Amino acid sequence: MIAMKDVYKTYANGVTALNGVSVDIQQGEFVYIVGPSGAGKSTFIKLIYREEKPSGGSIIINDINLAEIKEKKVPYLRRDIGVVFQDFKLLPKLTVYENIAFALEVIEESPRNIRKRVMEVLEVVGLKNKARFTPNELSGGEQQRISIARAIVNHPKIVIADEPTGNLDPDTSLDILRTLESVNDSGTTIIMATHSKEIVNRFKKRVIAIEDGIIARDEQRGEYGYEV
Ligand code: ADP
Ligand code: ADP
Repeated sequence: MIAMKDVYKTYANGVTALNGVSVDIQQGEFVYIVGPSGAGKSTFIKLIYREEKPSGGSIIINDINLAEIKEKKVPYLRRDIGVVFQDFKLLPKLTVYENIAFALEVIEESPRNIRKRVMEVLEVVGLKNKARFTPNELSGGEQQRISIARAIVNHPKIVIADEPTGNLDPDTSLDILRTLESVNDSGTTIIMATHSKEIVNRFKKRVIAIEDGIIARDEQRGEYGYEV
């Protein structure tokens, strides 16, 4: 469902972040992206949700070639992809409920559907009782669970997570992994860039290691493979 073939990415400053990457990821997989800082992990992730365009090669997601997609079609692609960030990116003035509903309101869902779906995803992340809170009234782990709820509210086929536990303590990180696993159990593909050796070695999944812009390793139930 995600097919990258010979993908290159050179930024405007001349830095080549990806240098010929080919990989297939099937629907329902849970994949960690690991590797040293500056290796190209974020670039890899950004290409998938079309935050950046490839300089060469093809990226096909659900039969759409991102190398050729017109700008006005990007929002359609994004409906199939939920994104979770290290720093949560919740809107501070909105309640939890509104932060999640916002993702649906922009695609013109009916109020009744919005309400039903927001409450459903709050149930999935175990925070139905926090609907009226604002983000600053929640712990970091709770904020990240809300951002996961927001990412899945459109029932995307893919959830991308760029260092989702980077700002969280170890116990809270485990909670986030369990939440992502439950999202994955319902058939959603998860692609997660991480520096957490503990998580990768504890919750065994496919591991794709990127080093110097190429895939250095691709293993089912792999290890983190670096010292922290
Ligand atoms: P990682 O996520 O593994 O740390 P990145 O994909 O962020 O790696 O970066 C890969 C390389 O591309 C690095 O050399 C980085 O400095 C460079 N890079 C990343 N984003 C940009 C950008 N927007 N403009 C120029 N260079 C960038
Ligand atoms: P339950 O399904 O458990 O009865 P409710 O649907 O009554 O839960 O709502 C749970 C929480 O979500 C409550 O705190 C409620 O105030 C809040 N909530 C529901 N709808 C909205 C809304 N449109 N805007 C803000 N908060 C809402």
